[in-house]
Amino acid sequence: MRKQFVVIGLGRFGGSVTKTLCSLGYEVMGIDKDERKVQEYAAVLTQVYQADSTDENVMKELGVRNMDHAIVAIGEDLQSSILTTLILKDLGIKHVTAKATNDYHQRVLEGLGADHIVHPERDTGVRVAHQVTSKNMIEYLELSPEHSLVEVIAPSSFGGKTLKTLDFRAKYGCSVMAIRRKDNEVVVSPHADELIFEGDMLVMIGRNTDISRFERTFE
Ligand code: ADP
Repeated sequence: MRKQFVVIGLGRFGGSVTKTLCSLGYEVMGIDKDERKVQEYAAVLTQVYQADSTDENVMKELGVRNMDHAIVAIGEDLQSSILTTLILKDLGIKHVTAKATNDYHQRVLEGLGADHIVHPERDTGVRVAHQVTSKNMIEYLELSPEHSLVEVIAPSSFGGKTLKTLDFRAKYGCSVMAIRRKDNEVVVSPHADELIFEGDMLVMIGRNTDISRFERTFE
């Protein structure tokens, strides 16, 4: 049996999660208090209900407790987000992912037992700031407050050199996990003797301080 998901709140974020889960072949139940959203998703989902997720009895009637994973995608209405998360945990849902709109919201959701908290606006903001300040930066993913994984276009001065001749790890403090060539060929865990070509994309992991230093060196 494949995992069953319920997405509560079919706004921009919840809608995007829902469509992606469906395209991955998962069964998704959608809930929104707004009739228009329910109509919009009627063509996409077999189970989509107009309901207020802060009403525990309604949630029970819909069989939400049978779901393996719930995603609370309510952003603006703080009270609804909080009450919904509380009810889902009370119903015994094993895994609850909730969207936080700010750090206080995140702390409350954590306190209620949400298993995973996402911060799409904040995370996108961090990524965009890195992308616009560094011409080589393609992707930026925080792994922890101290470490990140980034995708950068290899600076032209790297062209024709190996990781060893660049003295990559010692010089930049980061590890190259993969190289994607222009023709999309990917070299995973490249050897120190692997040549880097102009236009290659490097997937690197490192401390934020080292990654910032790398970004500034090739600004
Ligand atoms: P986004 O920024 O991702 O569009 P919104 O906060 O604007 O997020 O949208 C959240 C969705 O959640 C809306 O469609 C709204 O109707 C729905 N929603 C808000 N509160 C409840 C609730 N108590 N029960 C069910 N759906 C809700």
